[in-house]
Amino acid sequence: MALINAPRGTRDILPGESWKWAYIVKTASQTMRDFGFSEIHLPIFEHTELFSRGVGETTDIVEKEMYTFNDRGGRSITLRPEATAGVMRAALENNLCVQGASAKLWNWGPMFRHERPQKGRYRQFYQIDAECLGIAGPRADVEVITLSIELFRRLGLKNLEVVINSVGCEKCRPVYRQKLIDYFSAHKDKLCETCLTRLDRNPLRILDCKQEECGKIADGAPDIFDSLCDECREHFAEVRAGLERLGFTYTLNKRLVRGLDYYTKTAYEILSGDLGAQNAVAGGGRYDNLASAIGGSKVPGVGFACGVDRVMLVMEEQGCSFGKAPSIEVYAAALDDASRGAVQVLTYELRKNNIAAESDTVGKSFKAQMKAAGVCKFACIIGPDELANNVVAVKNLDDGSQEKISREEVVSYLKAKL
Ligand code: AMP
Repeated sequence: MALINAPRGTRDILPGESWKWAYIVKTASQTMRDFGFSEIHLPIFEHTELFSRGVGETTDIVEKEMYTFNDRGGRSITLRPEATAGVMRAALENNLCVQGASAKLWNWGPMFRHERPQKGRYRQFYQIDAECLGIAGPRADVEVITLSIELFRRLGLKNLEVVINSVGCEKCRPVYRQKLIDYFSAHKDKLCETCLTRLDRNPLRILDCKQEECGKIADGAPDIFDSLCDECREHFAEVRAGLERLGFTYTLNKRLVRGLDYYTKTAYEILSGDLGAQNAVAGGGRYDNLASAIGGSKVPGVGFACGVDRVMLVMEEQGCSFGKAPSIEVYAAALDDASRGAVQVLTYELRKNNIAAESDTVGKSFKAQMKAAGVCKFACIIGPDELANNVVAVKNLDDGSQEKISREEVVSYLKAKL
């Protein structure tokens, strides 16, 4: 029988890599704490309507990419394709933003989208996600963008570009939408098939089509800034001023619309020069209509999601540091079978004292145990003499020196040396 493999678009994160992931998440956790964001844990599956209504019926995610199925009770369930809708649902359901209260929340974990797998694009991928709920003013946008920039600074990523845009609000976007429909309708013959289907349903998405012909036509499309209402225009100006005050450089891209319907006003992405086609390491923006789209009261929000898989790729590519790889510090070895029990007791005592310790559990010869000890800093050797004299022979594996330490003192001796 052939071995069953992992499904296409999924990957196993093996021990050689998993500690690097842990480093990224730990760095994120510290950065979030410094910015006042609290961690939350959310379900990995939600009611399908949360995404169809929240993310938007006409988005690629909802139309083509969701893992949706009926559960045994006949309810339509979807594996979360993104985190924001779930965070907003949780905040509304748990009354975190009542009477003008705000909540700064972060989480990380797997997301699921049925996309065509390629470098940096997977069907199960991981995001670090931060959402600031309940604050309508532009300083919250600046704080969220700053948080994502700071996270990447701490991780040591170089060669990044921050790209920002404003996509308007429910007052001014319909006007812009109509202008786009009028404009693109006049160029129908040159649009790709996907864009033709977007024309009436979601014309803003034509602006970020990757096809060359569509791109050329989009170059001449009406400018969103000419359609922004005063409120959106002012909001965007303040976001830009805030970023400039902090000394950040950014690029304006009026064609950045992002693939999710819930964005209002600010939309942004952080791009890496060291990824291929899938070059966005993070994306986010403001979503003041999401709460009402999923049936809640009006709670504004702004946030971002960073793709951990892509951050990993960039960090490897750029030779960034992941801190110290985990390693065993002490190996306890038994000279003979009669000493194996005492070795196991010592190993547990070392571990209880936060010393990474290992010993043999399969019955290896002393020689084989010492070979395994090769990667450690110290070996603790116990044989008949040591048992009789209640001592342990401690060998420094860096310089080869060895001394006998009393059994009672061996843990504190090693703690001081490590
Ligand atoms: P989005 O939720 O589409 O705004 O994506 C936010 C970030 O998640 C992107 O900038 C990517 O870094 C990452 N991302 C999105 N889709 C995928 C995917 N299929 N595979 C890997 N990373 C992804």
